[in-house]
Amino acid sequence: MLTTVVGSYPVLLKEPSSLAEKIGALWGRYDPYKKAIEQAVSDQISAGIDIISDGQVRGDMIKIFAEHIPGMIVDKHVAKIINKINIPFYSIGTEDLKWAQKILNKTVQQLKLSEEEIVKKNIKGIVTGPTTMVYSSRIEGFYSRNQKEDAIMDMAQALKKEALELEKAGASIIQIDEPFLSTGVVDIPTSQKAVEIISKDLNIPVALHVCGNLEHIIDSILKFKVDIIDCEFAGIKENIQVLESISDFKGKKIGFGCVDTKKEAIEDIEDIRNLIQKGRDIIGEENMLIDPDCGMRMLSHQAAFSKLKNMVEASKWLI
Ligand SMILES: [Zn+2]
Repeated sequence: MLTTVVGSYPVLLKEPSSLAEKIGALWGRYDPYKKAIEQAVSDQISAGIDIISDGQVRGDMIKIFAEHIPGMIVDKHVAKIINKINIPFYSIGTEDLKWAQKILNKTVQQLKLSEEEIVKKNIKGIVTGPTTMVYSSRIEGFYSRNQKEDAIMDMAQALKKEALELEKAGASIIQIDEPFLSTGVVDIPTSQKAVEIISKDLNIPVALHVCGNLEHIIDSILKFKVDIIDCEFAGIKENIQVLESISDFKGKKIGFGCVDTKKEAIEDIEDIRNLIQKGRDIIGEENMLIDPDCGMRMLSHQAAFSKLKNMVEASKWLI
């Protein structure tokens, strides 16, 4: 079974240590986030994860995009829409994705992984979904409060460009993060249209990550034009019953979140294995990707690494 992550990883910023880094720092060329990406990638590979992320270390899921999308600003940690949302002039995440790929290649060599293992190691590109971007931002210009739908459509065009750039840069999957879908406050048909704008011209699989309880939205999100629906099953046990109630998965695979990312406590391998087996019995091994419930940004480094390691072990010992 392939293993992956949702995206974010604890951010470990380090002072420059090598001579080259110290000299770089004198000229303002030392980027501490590159080291944080290095740590996130080497940890994920060492834990045994197949499809890794760059760790999304440069900020929370809203800020990392809001800082670069024309029409948006981040003011005292609040994302604001102040003008018409436009397509960015440059790619937001490809430099980090390429850097992560470099670290991935270096780490698999250091760990002397077999050819068979190496081919499974890939990197995903991640964009925060248009609906979540708009609902997490304050609208202060161009769009009126009841024009959220227009803002979401413009946001989808901006993020579509970014997703295509990430695909070109070597991403093996594009993941669209839409935590807002389960909140009950968003217009699902609009979200669906927006996700489809992003997914329709991509030639690689597209995953939709949705946080929370799926009870009221599962039928709708199974209609989205994506290949994988990724959800939480460790922290939200009710989602297992939701899975059981589905008669037709419409060809979609399930990203099966099986470690709780809201708790520091590290789950036993056996408990994780039991949960994965429950999921497998409902959807079948071939339809599952194993991952944590959500991003790991808020966990301690130790907890994040241990959770990934136990998760990978658990996925190997199914009975
Ligand atoms: Zn989530």
